[in-house]
Amino acid sequence: MNNVLVTGGAGYIGSHACKALRAAGFTPVTFDNLITGWQDAVKFGPLEQGDLLDRARLDAVFAQYRPVAVMHFAALSQVGESMQDPGSYWRNNVSGSLTLIEAAVAAQCLNFVFSSTCATYGDQDNVVLDENSAQYPINAYGASKRAIEDILKDFEPAHGLRHVIFRYFNVAGADPEGEVGEFHRPETHLIPVLLDAIDGKRDALTIHGTDYPTPDGTCIRDYVHVCDLVDAHVLGLKWLLAGKASQVFNLGTGSGFSVREVMDHSREVTNRKVPFAEGPRRPGDCTKLVSGSTRAETDLGWRPERSTLKDMITDAWRWHQSGHYNR
Ligand code: UDP
Repeated sequence: MNNVLVTGGAGYIGSHACKALRAAGFTPVTFDNLITGWQDAVKFGPLEQGDLLDRARLDAVFAQYRPVAVMHFAALSQVGESMQDPGSYWRNNVSGSLTLIEAAVAAQCLNFVFSSTCATYGDQDNVVLDENSAQYPINAYGASKRAIEDILKDFEPAHGLRHVIFRYFNVAGADPEGEVGEFHRPETHLIPVLLDAIDGKRDALTIHGTDYPTPDGTCIRDYVHVCDLVDAHVLGLKWLLAGKASQVFNLGTGSGFSVREVMDHSREVTNRKVPFAEGPRRPGDCTKLVSGSTRAETDLGWRPERSTLKDMITDAWRWHQSGHYNR
């Protein structure tokens, strides 16, 4: 009765969401093709292996579990890769999501929580990014996520599928209890790459661009702790189950940190040097992405509690040193 279908539940954010759902009294049913996810990360409910492009498999899973809602995390999510291989992003993210959305409607599972991104906003100088900001993505990853938002907006009046869309800023950290954490192969995200460099698992962190129009020349991002982020999803789910209207929420703290500032904090937390090299800009990167909205706080009652850089890096470092999943 309290099943929630979690696509991508074997991935970084999805696995933390499963833990939060379980703690809130729901049963998270993970649907994951295990291409970028990890079987060992599925600890809080059943795993149904399958691909979003497989409609028959989705129909069978909806029929078996009759979920009250879908939380849709499964996606390719690397900006750089999306510029080199946009077809995979349009196929997996957009076609895959459309297949899922149509299966949800067919099964009359009409509550949908969607994992979107601030990359849908693109590079907008001196603009405070709130939910009403224009969306001009500059990479295929952001474009694919914006397209899925558009699909959801069309499906509500046509089919009664209500949605909560979360536009994440930069997600970091790990479960402080160490049950799940971040593990991508290959890893491209700043904080885990940086910890790999500190730990000698790679030679150095390459700073992607030092000539941006920011105070220290490196890109600025708004980092949010994965546990705070998934808490917002549980609130968003309850919002939908209470019958409230579809809504879009930014999830960020409103504070921006440059790549060099993140390096400085990592040095302090780990008490080790950060080996680094300066490299060229990475295609598709925005100069600055910082949330300018408090809608999640005011409307959902969201209170980010661990989203300081110190806590995020501390939790990521603890996870990093703990050995990760079997593989
Ligand atoms: N970054 C970097 N070196 C790396 C990985 C990331 O300089 O090895 C920078 C990247 O250019 C961006 C920021 O760190 O400015 C955050 O990148 P990440 O890939 O973590 O997240 P994104 O903002 O692309 O979603």
